[in-house]
Amino acid sequence: MQLKQFRRKTVAQRKKLADFLKKLDDIVPDDMPKLLAEEDKKVWQETACLSCANCCKKMTPTFTKKDMVRIAAHLEMSVNAFKKEWLYQEEGTGDWMNKSTPCQFLGADNKCSIYEVRPSDCAEFPHHHKQPFDAYNDTFTQNLSYCPATYNLVERLKKRIEKEYEW
Ligand code: SF4
Ligand code: SF4
Repeated sequence: MQLKQFRRKTVAQRKKLADFLKKLDDIVPDDMPKLLAEEDKKVWQETACLSCANCCKKMTPTFTKKDMVRIAAHLEMSVNAFKKEWLYQEEGTGDWMNKSTPCQFLGADNKCSIYEVRPSDCAEFPHHHKQPFDAYNDTFTQNLSYCPATYNLVERLKKRIEKEYEW
């Protein structure tokens, strides 16, 4: 799914998928890992992250201590200088996030300028491989508004599960 097509999705369409994920909290097909692997493979055949980069433009990763040490070293800065320049600490969670979006490391070509040392949160995004899948339903629900790949995956899972399973 292209970003343009994704942007045309309505609130009502997203709500239907969010409701499906909510139901998936309670009822999970026995062969969910197989189902997920099959549908996720199709999603990535249709996804071009370099023409999207919506996650880097609209969201912020969470930077772990290891991320900050690795990236600061790569940029030949101290960790404190790195934090002062680009990050803020969220109240409550204490998480370190980007001060602003789009991410300061996103290039005009939609490529990440620190790709080799990027935060683990970025490397793992959009988390489709996390197990068990349904433990991340809240994350996927949030990402229905940001990530065309997640939208496509949840839409595919909904269609398939509603067709092939009694639930
Ligand atoms: S992971 Fe999702 S939001 Fe990020 S670039 Fe790929 S499709 Fe776009
Ligand atoms: S660090 Fe790189 S991959 Fe992560 S949000 Fe910034 S530009 Fe995107």
